[in-house]
Amino acid sequence: HAPAHFRTLLEMSRFHGEKTFLVYEDEHITFEEHFRRAATLARRLVEEYGVTKGDRVAVAMRNYPEWVVSFSAVLAAGAIAVPLNAWWTEPELAYGARDSRAKLIIADGERAARLASTGVPLIVTRGDGPAGARTFADVMGEVTADVKLPDVELSPEDPATIFYTSGTTGSPKGALGSHRNLGQSPMTVAYGLMRAVAMSGRDPAEAAGARRVTLLTVPLFHVTGCFSAMTGMMFTGGGLVLMYKWDPEQALRLIEREKVTTMIGVPTNAWQLMSHPDFGRYDLSSLTTLGYGGAPAPPKLLERITENLPDRAPSNGYGMTETTALAIGNGGADYQARPDSIGLPSPVVDVRVVGPMGDVLPPGEVGELCLRGPNVILGYWNKPEATAQTFVDGWLHTGDLGRIDEEGFVYIVDRAKDMVIRGGENVYCAEVEAALFEHPAVDDAAVIGVPHDELGEEVGAVIRLAPGATATPEELRSFLADRIAKFKIPVHVWFRDAELPRNPGGKILKTHLRREILGA
Ligand code: ATP
Ligand code: MG
Repeated sequence: HAPAHFRTLLEMSRFHGEKTFLVYEDEHITFEEHFRRAATLARRLVEEYGVTKGDRVAVAMRNYPEWVVSFSAVLAAGAIAVPLNAWWTEPELAYGARDSRAKLIIADGERAARLASTGVPLIVTRGDGPAGARTFADVMGEVTADVKLPDVELSPEDPATIFYTSGTTGSPKGALGSHRNLGQSPMTVAYGLMRAVAMSGRDPAEAAGARRVTLLTVPLFHVTGCFSAMTGMMFTGGGLVLMYKWDPEQALRLIEREKVTTMIGVPTNAWQLMSHPDFGRYDLSSLTTLGYGGAPAPPKLLERITENLPDRAPSNGYGMTETTALAIGNGGADYQARPDSIGLPSPVVDVRVVGPMGDVLPPGEVGELCLRGPNVILGYWNKPEATAQTFVDGWLHTGDLGRIDEEGFVYIVDRAKDMVIRGGENVYCAEVEAALFEHPAVDDAAVIGVPHDELGEEVGAVIRLAPGATATPEELRSFLADRIAKFKIPVHVWFRDAELPRNPGGKILKTHLRREILGA
């Protein structure tokens, strides 16, 4: 057989045998058990559902162990796994099923109910499915020790996954990833973790592959969960602790109970963990690293971690659905020295910054960040125009504005679509937000452009104050005056009691906010 990376990974993971792989509430599943279940389901998909190479099989669930088993089985059967966003409503899920032209959907009860109208055959776990749907347990039948993966011929360039982008800037696009794309992900992740841990001087042996337990605080249906956490643990033999949904108190309890060594999620998770009133009551001594990414991490976050969880190795990772998760990462002493940087590219990635005419810019200049490497996906599923615009001459155009310093450290200044242009002057929302986070009363902040007749746009900020804290717009503005230039200081300030609307990737839904606040 030609190398088909996920099957190899799955077969390799059997080496970790009786070690615990998946933890969900009080269920513990070993690597051997996971292998047997995945191989059994893969055989059923091929033998009972006629799944063949290239067919799409969707997985629509919360972070249950069956998500991992199903994902593994679909890939092992040679089909393309299509993880659907469990937060999606009925029409959104129907879009995913239709857009991917899924042959079969493996769903939990809640998702199955929302997918029933699509008419696509369903296999249902955790709850009742619509009439006629088969249960996961029924399809699995008996799981035996001698089960083998079904035979399929795959090559590294064959498509393996369709992950939908977060839909922060428009409607979600299906990112078609190959076996090679996901094959490199455990290396990129292990390399990044090893580097962060080694540079912090704490137990590098653990990063090298000894027992590691990861608490995953984000969904598996986005690439961070799947490739920075799940396949990483399959590779290193670490445990993966799953949560039905993010809940800081539950996270604190799980870190103590499962002796979690790494928490992987979005920056808000780490922030909310430390803000929890019971933070000090739990034993978090097992925790050696906190990895986060997927959304801007304000430098204040690093400061708070250094204060509240000293001697840990926090790391900030940058990646996209289109880069199969982590592509650039910052950790250890590098991160302490440059808390506003996303760090250095993975060894497999080339990075450059280009100007509006596609010209490559010198160090220090801000332009669009472009990436190239074996982690960059094949293109968008079903979207030839978006593919042609985004993937040009082998380079992925990220839509993020960034710069690279003389030493090769990369900085994200803003998403190109987020930037506020005030009278021809660029205001990077991420910079203003980071300055707001420095204020002790600010718990969350989002900067948006507000239409202005003369200037085109003015700067506005939506602020959620920390519990019990007070601040006036004038106080915040004078606080910012010492930190950022006058033209960047928000003219409009709105306070919001409720949490800011975020998608499961931890990104603030600015289009929602704009609509809510400006009615536009
Ligand atoms: P869509 O492409 O559908 O609009 P999206 O870009 O939010 O949604 P993802 O692929 O989940 O979908 O997110 C990738 C984006 O997340 C990057 O382009 C970047 O803007 C942002 N991002 C990821 N990691 C970081 C990080 N460490 N710091 C700042 N921004 C980050
Ligand atoms: Mg995007």
